[in-house]
Amino acid sequence: MTGALAIVSLGPGAPGLITPDAAKALAEATDLVGYGPYLARLQPAPEQRLHAFDNRTELARAELALRLAAGGRRVALVSSGDAGVFAMAATTFEAMEKGEPSWRGLALTVIPGISAALAAAARLGAPLGGDFCVISLSDYLKPWPVIAKRLRAAAEAGFVLALYNPASAARPWQLGAAFATLREVLAGTTPVAFATNVSLAEERLTLASLATADPALAGMRTLVLIGAPTSRLIPRPAGLPWFYTPRGLPSL
Ligand code: SAH
Repeated sequence: MTGALAIVSLGPGAPGLITPDAAKALAEATDLVGYGPYLARLQPAPEQRLHAFDNRTELARAELALRLAAGGRRVALVSSGDAGVFAMAATTFEAMEKGEPSWRGLALTVIPGISAALAAAARLGAPLGGDFCVISLSDYLKPWPVIAKRLRAAAEAGFVLALYNPASAARPWQLGAAFATLREVLAGTTPVAFATNVSLAEERLTLASLATADPALAGMRTLVLIGAPTSRLIPRPAGLPWFYTPRGLPSL
């Protein structure tokens, strides 16, 4: 048997947001590799082997997936959202660069998916209708001053901001610091949306302004969207207003 590795995007959580191509790659795999809670979302066939990892073992996960594929298995390495966005696809290429030269010849496909920012934006309206910038607030892999500099530059340039990894038990202060930096550049009325567990039963959406946004609303499964100066809110008779960003600038 010829081995193959598919890096499979699972989307934000709801089964309906898994693409047919991703579902096909999952069905065809002999081995499913991934973070335990993501594997738990799947319904594996009895003959499929599961390799569950905890969330601090990304390089080991990628190396196992490459090794299994090199040994002839058909491997699906799963990742939430889009596998290419702050996720396992890049980790796999890092492992490939550092690892066995033969891994470079493997049949490898990256199957795209719906990233959290896109799923959250769809729930809120169309906040990403203009130019936007995607930033991870995690300072595990890059120093905080670099993150703060990028936040400020993106806000000064008028981008909508989609913030991934805004908070966790081990990273409690970063989002508050990000808001403080952004308040130096953006109006206090700038819309800020907290979208947690998008597409799942526990989904929670909150809209605030930059002046009043409470960082405690964000957790490990929250995507934070911060409007640009052009972003707008349309009040509705009930529920949250629609949050959108026009595609053009007002002067055009
Ligand atoms: N590859 C993923 C992102 C991984 S980083 C993707 O494309 O979506 C993990 C971060 O993604 C979380 O901290 C959170 O900011 C965001 N996230 C993932 N799933 C989410 C969901 N269902 N709802 C809201 N945010 C989510």
